[in-house]
Amino acid sequence: MQGEIGDAAFKSWLKPITVNGIEGGTVRVTVPTRFMRDWVVSNYGARIRSLWRGENTDVRAIDVQVIARGDDSPVNGEPVARSGKAPVAAPMARRSAAARTRNSDDRVDLCAPLDTRFTFDNFVVGKPNEFAYAAARRVAEAATVPFNPLFLYGGVGLGKTHLMHAIAWHITSRDPDRTVVYMSAEKFMYRFIRALREHNTVDFKEQFRSVDVLMIDDVQFISGKESTQEEFFHTFNALVDQGRQIVISADKSPSDLEGIEERLKSRLNCGLVADIHATTYELRLGILQSKAESMQVEIPRKVMEFLSHRITSNVRELEGALNRVVAHAQLVGRDITLETSQEVLHDLLRANDRRVTIEDIQKQVAAHFNIRISDMHSARRARSVARPRQVAMYLAKQLTARSLPEIGRKFGGRDHTTVMHAVKKVEELRSAEPSFAEDVELLRRMLEG
Ligand code: ADP
Ligand code: MG
Repeated sequence: MQGEIGDAAFKSWLKPITVNGIEGGTVRVTVPTRFMRDWVVSNYGARIRSLWRGENTDVRAIDVQVIARGDDSPVNGEPVARSGKAPVAAPMARRSAAARTRNSDDRVDLCAPLDTRFTFDNFVVGKPNEFAYAAARRVAEAATVPFNPLFLYGGVGLGKTHLMHAIAWHITSRDPDRTVVYMSAEKFMYRFIRALREHNTVDFKEQFRSVDVLMIDDVQFISGKESTQEEFFHTFNALVDQGRQIVISADKSPSDLEGIEERLKSRLNCGLVADIHATTYELRLGILQSKAESMQVEIPRKVMEFLSHRITSNVRELEGALNRVVAHAQLVGRDITLETSQEVLHDLLRANDRRVTIEDIQKQVAAHFNIRISDMHSARRARSVARPRQVAMYLAKQLTARSLPEIGRKFGGRDHTTVMHAVKKVEELRSAEPSFAEDVELLRRMLEG
């Protein structure tokens, strides 16, 4: 196999395997980590077995076990585990035994578990995510840091975590000696607080500062958490100074993040900022086709088109919808049809219909107050247009998940303080004037359908 897969891969994955014997047709081997086990099983398992059978026809299976050396069990409490394949322990540097210091062992549980399905190969590329995808690939493949940090942002369920895990898988499979640490910002904070409590901040700093690639997911979580931000800021600078790669994700662009210190924001803006846009019909259809293929189920084209049309919120819900349709068909032993899909998903379909956009709100409010839609964006300050505009901003804040700066931009590039003011004003008027409150209530009900 060394000849087949090359010296580097052999050294990383096959050489560390220990053969423990054959028992009733099963070859028992051990490897040092769970990550290695999963990697060996999925990439080389079949080949090892068939080569072995060539030597000994009694062999039917290869059983790969982990002999734990130190603790490399997955970190508890990370929200990575989902239905389907279990997450595996994080890929960690496998330096020689002599070089394995206490610190590198600690790093073993620094990295959160990575989802084996989140690879570049399983990521469907389309217009909304092609830029983010290209940037992630570039970071994963580059020999030297191409931009620092890579900042990925976009709404929930659009593939940020998937791309980060893909970077980690890619780098560690190419070069197992590089230390890649992926964790949520929440976990970062939790670790930092624990270090403070245990008077261990020196160790904490050291652990982080010796990684080659640091990825922090959902950085918006540390909004308003000042000391965590401060620590993160220093870690960030130390790593950048040493030419290490940093990858960050968030639900908003660095400039739109609320409750994050200016100096940190400006650092986050320094590298490449790549956004993942809302999915398009074509991308959703592509994703469904790819998932159906990997699940090895036949799904009528009509059903996939229907789902792509109707489940528009995000990829996570789209996947969930597909899983439900497939699970239902398998449970009741019937084919998947348009009718059964509609039936199985009725609640999800309703929720997707109910989602309101800022454009819907502007249209509805303009019609209600009998003004032009363009007045929603205009600079006109006459009360007759300013008040409806404020109502629309208020409803945008109430009915959508958009941030104040995002809302401001949709209203002719206004500042977030203007939106904040509008929200306050409308709240005041609602409690002062019952007829105004009724108007707003009516609009809300119409928009929510
Ligand atoms: P986020 O971190 O942005 O909230 P995730 O990365 O967790 O979103 O993605 C949610 C789900 O959707 C995951 O199961 C992921 O594999 C899947 N997904 C998202 N985008 C894609 C894509 N372009 N191709 C395939 N699967 C995707
Ligand atoms: Mg995520």
